[in-house]
Order: sequence, then structure tokens, then C-alpha cells
Amino acid sequence: MNKIEHIGIAVKDIEASNELFAKLFNKKHYKMEEVASEGVKTSFFQLGESKIELLEATREDSPIAKFIAKKGEGVHHIAFDVTDIHAEVERLKNEGFIVLNETPKKGADNKLVVFLHPKSTNGTLIELCQEII
Ligand code: ZN
Repeated sequence: MNKIEHIGIAVKDIEASNELFAKLFNKKHYKMEEVASEGVKTSFFQLGESKIELLEATREDSPIAKFIAKKGEGVHHIAFDVTDIHAEVERLKNEGFIVLNETPKKGADNKLVVFLHPKSTNGTLIELCQEII
């Protein structure tokens, strides 16, 4: 894994949170994107080489809606940049990690993404992401 690509934060109201985080960082988000397949609306802030991704559910059965219902707003996942996502999935499976989707799916921000189950990573949802070239 190369670096922390972004940290995902689950929020109830992405417009209000865009304003809040813009004040916190003293800069605006640089894009918003909806991932219909995941039932989320996202926005991104660039901070040096890392990003903050805000996630708002667009429907009640969205994983983000379920997360907020259970735990409230807050850090939802940490995403790590990888060079070869297929090789990483194989490696991590062999190490005993639980891979939620073995076939990488298209996430926000032009990335292929795979998630690792939090119960195999001390309670933190981990996202692997590889830029689609
Ligand atoms: Zn993410």
C-alpha cells in the first residue's frame, strides 16, 4: 500500500458538512459525485497528498444510512492507494483478511475499489483504491 488516499466521513447533510469542512480546512471541496450503485453522494477536499471524502446516503438501504443509524456520523473508512488492486486482494486474502468484494468495483473519484471487512481489521473499514488510468 502506497499512502492514505482519503478518509471517508459519513454525514447526514452533505451540503451543511461541505460548509463546515470548508471552514475547518479554509478551502472548498473540489468536486461532488454521486455513486448510484452504492446509494451515496460524495464530496472531496484535497489536503496535500490526501483527501477527505464526505458521504451522504441517497436512500435508506444505503450502507451509509445503515452506518449512521447504528453509529452516528463520523469516520466511516480509511482508503489506501494501491498500485495493483488485484494482486493486493490476493495477498490480503492469503493473509486471512475478509474481502467484501473480490471483484473491484467502480467507486467515486475514478477509482477501482475493494473493501475489507472491519471484523478482520480491528474494527476499521478499509478501502483499497487504484486509480483508473
Ligand atoms: Zn472512500
